[in-house]
Amino acid sequence: ATTATSHQFQAEVAKLLHLMVHSVYSDRDVFLRELISNAADALDKLRYEAIANPQLLEGQPDLTITITPDKEKKTLTITDTGIGMSEQELIDNLGTIAKSGTQAFVEQAKAKQGDVHLIGQFGIGFYSGFIVAGKVDVISRRAGSDQAWMWSSDGSGSFTMTPVESAPRGTSIVLHLREDALEFLEDWKIESVVRTYSDHIAHPIMLSVGNETAKQINSANAIWTRAKSDITPEQHKEFFGHISGNYSDPALTLHYRAEGRNEYTVLLYVPGERPFDLYDPERRGRQKLYVKRVYIADDVELLPAYLRFVRGVIDSEDMPLNISREMLQNNPQVAAIRKAVTNKVLSELKKLSETDDAAYRKLWEIYGPVLKEGLYEDMERRDQLYELVRFKSTKGDWVSLKDYIAGLKENQTAIYYLTAEDAAKAKASPQLEGYKARDVEVLLLTDPVDSFWVRTALGYEGKPFKSVTQGSADLDLIVAKDEAKPDAAADAETAVLAAALKQALGERVKDVRSSKRLTESAVCIVNDSMMDRTLEKLLSRQKDS
Ligand code: ADP
Ligand code: MG
Repeated sequence: ATTATSHQFQAEVAKLLHLMVHSVYSDRDVFLRELISNAADALDKLRYEAIANPQLLEGQPDLTITITPDKEKKTLTITDTGIGMSEQELIDNLGTIAKSGTQAFVEQAKAKQGDVHLIGQFGIGFYSGFIVAGKVDVISRRAGSDQAWMWSSDGSGSFTMTPVESAPRGTSIVLHLREDALEFLEDWKIESVVRTYSDHIAHPIMLSVGNETAKQINSANAIWTRAKSDITPEQHKEFFGHISGNYSDPALTLHYRAEGRNEYTVLLYVPGERPFDLYDPERRGRQKLYVKRVYIADDVELLPAYLRFVRGVIDSEDMPLNISREMLQNNPQVAAIRKAVTNKVLSELKKLSETDDAAYRKLWEIYGPVLKEGLYEDMERRDQLYELVRFKSTKGDWVSLKDYIAGLKENQTAIYYLTAEDAAKAKASPQLEGYKARDVEVLLLTDPVDSFWVRTALGYEGKPFKSVTQGSADLDLIVAKDEAKPDAAADAETAVLAAALKQALGERVKDVRSSKRLTESAVCIVNDSMMDRTLEKLLSRQKDS
């Protein structure tokens, strides 16, 4: 049968496509980069699956990407000999399964008109074809299957699916270019886009030049196998873009080769911009595992969740190529790599904090709340993390614990903190008055994660963390800047007032005491339990919801 069936796009996807078709974009080149990136992923997937299942290669081991411009038909076709898609996969992947990135991208595209270069970062690169094409056909046959299918859409509400008589293994994306996008049929244009964005793709990218001939237009070697000194910042930027979808300069690059018991190459980046899914509840890491240049998986926990923003590749020399994804879960080699690479990433962050304070602060502002998750999840490295954390405080922004300890007042025995929803609220708290009067610095903890780690934190350099809302006696030992002389008469009057208040409040309070912690406000509420006020509020909110 050759009848076509029609399918509706999922609502967010329809919105996205409407945007693609109706907006004017300045950086249209990105579509080619995204489609090549998908083709390369498809080749990687086939190469991996063929290790366990060689007949998937169907006797044709060639893994290539071919770009074919056709000036008569005004089409640009990107073909790969990769894994391909089944009927269901075409329907799911290209339009009906909602992805969290779709909504996020639509929102940011509305805010920043004309800016599409981020599209790959949101996991929706395929749709960028509609920036230049009025109609897109996807012909695909999954490796090992007999049946091929064509997905087709003009970017308005729906797409069609049609069975195809025969097709080579893999996928062809046929873009029916709009009149204003015909420049993408020119060899020079295609070559320049590929050189700019896709040179590092580890599979050959061929440009079809007519008469069944094609020439290779990328250098096709895995960037991480090259010597450090042979890689330019532009090449790093391009590769980082390929794996993260974010084509801006990485804030930190880590490239080295580990030798010894386990041999592997590491090429990791810290993005300079906040990834849109940084706070996804799944907290998924995205480091790609390769074994001897063969892509294996990107969902192996190669780094702890609190380093999930680190992107890149780890390529092992000595793991078995036919390792299954299940075997990776409890693999001792993976565990050893995770341990060593985690330490390396933390020490690299520390180095940055010592050599370039401004750059480090910028990273801290983006990733600080995520790194702090490590303070209660990774006890083994808590001391390392203590060296990395920065806080807002009553004396300034982004003080380190080392700075804090250096500024301790005489007789000060604890690191004081105040948790609050934001810094402005924290600074206005009457709880701080007594500390201000004594010039004692107080850390202002304003991230939700703070209430969690600080409870289990034992202390830093022998000084416990102590909430200003807990305990009260400490301040008596620290001399205030201009302390009032003891006044027995006033003290007696205060005691009478406290007793009266206590009687009036009855059951609602445990005690009413005079205190040195206030200098301007008349009263404040304190807690005598170990439970901190902000945490208490947070927990009661959770119970309610
Ligand atoms: P992402 O690549 O981030 O997953 P895309 O929108 O670029 O998002 O692609 C969506 C999905 O469609 C891919 O994850 C993949 O499953 C499928 N896909 C796209 N292009 C190809 C291709 N050339 N071969 C096989 N599958 C593809
Ligand atoms: Mg993609």
